[in-house]
Amino acid sequence: SRPVLEIKDLNVDYGVGEQAVRAVREVNLTLHRGEVLGLAGESGSGKSTLAYGLTRLLPPPGVVRSGQVIYHDPNGEPVDILRLSIPELRRFRWAETSLVFQGAMNSLNPVHKVSTQLTDVIKAHEPGSTRAARRARAKELLDLVGISADRLDAYPHQLSGGMRQRVMIGMALALQPQIVIMDEPTTALDVVTQRQILRQLVDLRERLDFSVLFITHDLSLLVEFADRIAVMYGGRIVEQAPSTQLYRDSLHPYSDGLLHSFPALRGPRRELTGIPGSPPDPRALPSGCSFHPRCPQAFEPCAQRVPVLGPPAGTAERTVACHLHVGDRVPT
Ligand code: ATP
Ligand code: SF4
Ligand code: MG
Repeated sequence: SRPVLEIKDLNVDYGVGEQAVRAVREVNLTLHRGEVLGLAGESGSGKSTLAYGLTRLLPPPGVVRSGQVIYHDPNGEPVDILRLSIPELRRFRWAETSLVFQGAMNSLNPVHKVSTQLTDVIKAHEPGSTRAARRARAKELLDLVGISADRLDAYPHQLSGGMRQRVMIGMALALQPQIVIMDEPTTALDVVTQRQILRQLVDLRERLDFSVLFITHDLSLLVEFADRIAVMYGGRIVEQAPSTQLYRDSLHPYSDGLLHSFPALRGPRRELTGIPGSPPDPRALPSGCSFHPRCPQAFEPCAQRVPVLGPPAGTAERTVACHLHVGDRVPT
């Protein structure tokens, strides 16, 4: 399938010069048209930094150091988001891509009705639209995310957390973007509500034909809802595969650990062993494979050489960065 977004060799730092801390390292990742791509990894692995970096919403001292983020518009025209001018970028955000960020449900303005907040988004991008048209559209959007029209004039505090999060998703879909990026949009919600919202998102994706980059630390959610999964560790993508393959046969010991950190919903029960130790500080990443101090399978080259992300033998649609599978690019 065709790519809608291609991230190439992306490096993102916090700070400059001596103080610079590299939080995203040489990330290569492709989002295909119509797919739900999941991005998983423990706290501090760089998921949010990647999402904000690629949309150019990174708060200072964050800076995209190098790389490309190629967006393919519906006509197939490629544009590098990192090189758009500010006015181009403004149009691009919301209209082509929209971001539901961590804790978004608390970013609804408490003093304005839900209807006003939805119609404001529409008005900002369609200043010529009539008030009635905007209100009708707002009602449609709420309906889309499963909120009945009688809640249109509710204030945020009159809605549950799950409903507020649905409103945020409705808002993200207001301008029919090609790409929706969701950074832990459901983490604050209970498990049942999280799954309902994800199910709805997947259904909407089929009806409205957008692509989703869904970020979470909960790999079990992704196994259920994502088409493909990328796993991040220490700022790098360490494995990327169709979700069924990752679940059945994860190649990277870290993915394996993550899969054993959550109860499985379906299929064989896995023992919950988790991962010993804690994620690394990007200011002091371990040498070689940054997972080596925690890896139960670490061996001789692991502390010395950074494994290259590449396809393991005999596969084309998945990549892994682990010396057990690839990376020993020595002549034979
Ligand atoms: P979480 O699951 O907790 O949201 P994450 O995977 O989204 O984690 P990021 O927030 O992207 O992780 O952070 C990646 C790394 O960058 C972390 O080690 C963090 O300490 C560092 N970092 C984040 N923001 C800043 C900042 N403003 N200044 C310096 N370092 C930062
Ligand atoms: Fe473990 Fe070595 Fe693979 Fe890193 S490269 S995940 S330390 S086996
Ligand atoms: Mg985050």
